[in-house]
Amino acid sequence: MAEKPDRVTLRAYDVGFGDCFLLTFHYSASQKHLLIDFGSTRKPKDKAVTGNYMERIAKQIAVDCNYRLTAVIATHRHKDHISGFDNGGNKGPGEIIRNLKPEIVLQPWTEDPDAERDARKPTKKLRGLKLHKSLYVRSLTDMGHYASFIRTTAKRLRGRHLEAIRSQLDFLGDDNDLKNRDAVVNLMTMGKRPARYLYATARSGLESLLPGVKVHVLGPPTLEQEPRISTQTATQADEFWNLRAGFWARRGAMSKRGGKLATPLFAHHVTRPPWDARWYRYRAQKEQAETLLSIVRTLDTAMNNTSLILLFEVGKSCLLFPGDAQWENWRYALSQPKTQKLLKRVDLYKVGHHGSLNATPKSLWKLFETKGPKTRQPRLLSVLSTKNDVHGTAADHTEVPRQSLVDELTAASTLIDTRAAAADALCVTHEIIVS
Ligand SMILES: [Zn+2]
Repeated sequence: MAEKPDRVTLRAYDVGFGDCFLLTFHYSASQKHLLIDFGSTRKPKDKAVTGNYMERIAKQIAVDCNYRLTAVIATHRHKDHISGFDNGGNKGPGEIIRNLKPEIVLQPWTEDPDAERDARKPTKKLRGLKLHKSLYVRSLTDMGHYASFIRTTAKRLRGRHLEAIRSQLDFLGDDNDLKNRDAVVNLMTMGKRPARYLYATARSGLESLLPGVKVHVLGPPTLEQEPRISTQTATQADEFWNLRAGFWARRGAMSKRGGKLATPLFAHHVTRPPWDARWYRYRAQKEQAETLLSIVRTLDTAMNNTSLILLFEVGKSCLLFPGDAQWENWRYALSQPKTQKLLKRVDLYKVGHHGSLNATPKSLWKLFETKGPKTRQPRLLSVLSTKNDVHGTAADHTEVPRQSLVDELTAASTLIDTRAAAADALCVTHEIIVS
């Protein structure tokens, strides 16, 4: 019988606002190590974050994987998932990871540097350093450059009334900015084998590297598989965690069109000349800032939806890592009967998008059959990598992590949370017995 692992060690490194996981598969005479993402936009607070914190984490990863990685997986291109791979000047955390000589690097198909200009699906050729040419991919790239412009513009917004919007613009602009080219190139070239750019139903490339483990690629879909991936739904009432009594009233200015919510460019029409010029300026600045914010949010979602969704099937166990995939990406996977069957068996769920309201579709959550009270055995394990007060606000029910989701995770699963990492610990660890 082919060999298979009997145990998996999960390490969730406390990168603050970002993702970084090491999965160690234990075989009778060896171990295989998979690094899933390594990035941060905001370092953890109550830690001695001295010197180069990401370098310290990279060194810890090196020790934890015994100086050899089987594979590196970069779920999508946001800074909070790949900034640690930066090896500018052949130094820094990215160089430490490179020296762990991963056999292979896996990324979503939208990162394929050889994608054709009008690509609707991935190319066969899987290696190269040419810049992106695909129309869809190209627009993702253009949007990234726009993010950089928005960040600069945000810095020029003055006034205390714009403080909250300014900090959101700064955060989203920073995360979507494509200046992290060193990290992107390092990822493309660090694997011993050609990098693979994956899409839903593709072979992962891990078949011979991880014996006894079936790796299912559930997302992202190509444009042929799911044309709606390039559009987005502002709010899907039944799928998100944002709806509460009072929400609709609060968002009265929003218009409802065909089940979708859209924010009008000017939410508050000025029907009479303003009685006070200062009030008018105040409103005009706010409208401008809100418009910028809605644009940068659109591109943030588009990039999140390029996230690789991987499911590792080991014996009866299923471990699910969906990056920051949102509804438009999940919609394809959730529509496949075979995938639904697998999702029912998930016993480790990496909480999507740091616990934001729109990355754990309720129809996905409902599928997990191992949810239940503390007494349930085996019980769903969920792992959340996040940081408070970075993204969204509790007043708008958009805070990350979303409290109603965290309450549900706590009630129905065993929650591993990087925010609970001890002050002197760089990661939280959990052993998973697979049978
Ligand atoms: Zn993220």
